[in-house]
Amino acid sequence: MKAAVKTGGPVEVLHRLREEGLIRHIGFSTHGSLDIILQALNTNLFSFVNLHYYYFFQRNLAAVRLAGEKDIGVFIISPNEKGGLLWKPSRKVEQTCHPLTAIEFNGRFCLSHPEITTLSMGIHEPEHFSQNLSILNGEDYTSQAMRDTRARMDAPLSGVSDLCTLCGECLPCPEEINIPEVLRFRNLLEAYDMVDYGKFRYNMFEGEGHWFPGNFASKCTECGDCLPRCPEKLEIPKLLKETHKELFDRNAWVKNQFFQLAVSVAKFLRKFIRGRV
Ligand code: SF4
Ligand code: SF4
Repeated sequence: MKAAVKTGGPVEVLHRLREEGLIRHIGFSTHGSLDIILQALNTNLFSFVNLHYYYFFQRNLAAVRLAGEKDIGVFIISPNEKGGLLWKPSRKVEQTCHPLTAIEFNGRFCLSHPEITTLSMGIHEPEHFSQNLSILNGEDYTSQAMRDTRARMDAPLSGVSDLCTLCGECLPCPEEINIPEVLRFRNLLEAYDMVDYGKFRYNMFEGEGHWFPGNFASKCTECGDCLPRCPEKLEIPKLLKETHKELFDRNAWVKNQFFQLAVSVAKFLRKFIRGRV
C-alpha cells in the first residue's frame, strides 16, 4: 500500500492521468486486512473500493462505513461465490432463509447497507439470473420480513459452542496459520453445515503467491503462544485440528502441488530458452 501511494508512485501517476481526462475514477481492489483497507481509504486518494463483505463475512463493516462517510463507492467482490458458495447452499442455509434463496438473502443483506453501491454477481447457471435480478426489486431491504429472516439466520451462530468472534487477537501465529479464518469456517460448519464452502475456501491455503494467505491448521505445533491472547479462552490448537480433519481435501492438495510444480517448470524453461536465444 505504501509503495502505491508514495510521492511519485503509481497512484500519483493515475491522478495525473485523471487530471488530463484520460481516466475518470481511481479506486482499489483488496483482499487485505481491515487495518490496511482503512489506511488506504484514509489517504483520500480513491473514489471507489472493491472488497469482501457478505452476510457470512462481516469483518470489513468498518471499511464499508468509512467509505460511506467519505462518499467512496463500495463494490462487493464475488458475493455469491466467496460470500458462501451460495448457488449450492447447505440444506440448513436453504431452509433457514426460506422463502428467500441464499443468493437473494445475501444480496438484500448487502444492499441493506446504503454505502454499498455495486454487487458483482458472477452468475454460473441461467436459473441464477432471475434470483440475482430479484434482488433489485426496489424493495425496502430493512423491511420487517427481511429483519425476521435475518433473525432466523443469526440464531444458529449464537448457539455455536466455542464460537470464535474473529477478533484476531490471537495473531500472529509463528506457523503462519490464519487462525480467525480457519475458525470462521468452523463457525459456519457448526452453525450452518457449510461443508462445501468450508472445503472450497480452506483448501485455498498454502497456494503459492496466493492472495489468501495462511498455512493449513495441521501445521499447529501446540506452542501455546496464541492461547493467552484469546479473550474467549478457546482451545485453539484442538479446534484447529478438528477443523483441518473436517475440511482438508487431500486430492485437491495433490492437484495443487502438481499445478505449482508445472508452473515452476514452465518458468524455468522460459528463462532457460530466453538465455539461449
Ligand atoms: S498453538 Fe498453534 S495456532 Fe497457536 S500460535 Fe502456536 S502454532 Fe499457532
Ligand atoms: S483471539 Fe480467539 S476469538 Fe479472537 S480470533 Fe483468535 S481464536 Fe477467535
